[in-house]
Amino acid sequence: MSEDIAQSTREPRRKVISSPYLHKLQRRHFLLFDILPIVGTAAAFAFLAVYPFGVTEIVLLVSFWLLTGLGVTVGYHRLFTHRTFKAAPAVVAVLGVLGSMAGQGGVISWVALHRRHHECSDREGDPHSPNLSGSDFKGRLKGLAHSHFLWMRRHEYPNIVHYAPDLLKSKLIVKVARYYYYWVVLGLLLPALIGGLVTMSWLGAVSGLLWGGFARIFVLEHIVWAINSFLHMFGTKPYESRENSRNGAVFALITLGESWHNNHHAFPDSPSFGLEWYRLDPGFWLIKLLSVTGLAWDVEVPANDRRAAKRIVPA
Ligand SMILES: [Zn+2]
Ligand SMILES: [Zn+2]
Repeated sequence: MSEDIAQSTREPRRKVISSPYLHKLQRRHFLLFDILPIVGTAAAFAFLAVYPFGVTEIVLLVSFWLLTGLGVTVGYHRLFTHRTFKAAPAVVAVLGVLGSMAGQGGVISWVALHRRHHECSDREGDPHSPNLSGSDFKGRLKGLAHSHFLWMRRHEYPNIVHYAPDLLKSKLIVKVARYYYYWVVLGLLLPALIGGLVTMSWLGAVSGLLWGGFARIFVLEHIVWAINSFLHMFGTKPYESRENSRNGAVFALITLGESWHNNHHAFPDSPSFGLEWYRLDPGFWLIKLLSVTGLAWDVEVPANDRRAAKRIVPA
């Protein structure tokens, strides 16, 4: 067969894939990493009957939330999805592993899904829009539940060859993605180990697993999911952007800067989501710190005139 004929009979590359096998994997991931943390968090509260919530539990919960949260916002989102800055291989590896520990999907799949979200946001094809289920109260409630977390049970899988060819070319990122399940397990074992060693007890290890592992995954997941759901419905919209993305200033610290979601959709190439120094953006603070130490570079925030051109609400 000549190359011409082979070319003409070849199917065009599909942007999304749907297959029973993929849906089976999605269902399994949903049960393991979305439902199990809910059960684990309930178990953590039940465990209070036999073991107290002390300083060790608070430190484990907060520190693992912060580390994995920064892995998601700075690594998965700002570095790998949007390429808003460049970083040394060690930073790429650490952020990739920390992001993986959050249990929100392997890095390449996460990036492909999020790039599709930006491509189709709030229109047909967006994997998690809250605005496509009807405009009456029932439709809005259904949209909120879908975008917050029900969409993950079963969805079209964005073709990573189409959406993440740059990541597939990086041996380091492919390796991080391949061991995704191990990183999630590591994120559960580490707080268990620390809890056990600090208290020198098995009960301390279980408590560390429950609070620094499952409860921490639960907390971070709902914070990240709230960006997809609530911040495509409620909040302020200072910048022109075609979808319904919103800013939620009061959630800036707890979301590590992600709640400047309208800013982000308006300027997806910006490493800063706050855009101004006075808007809290812990994710950007880490990027600045990395750039000062020479571990990150090409950190460029959109210039004033570019921002002013898209501004629809006076600063
Ligand atoms: Zn984004
Ligand atoms: Zn969005």
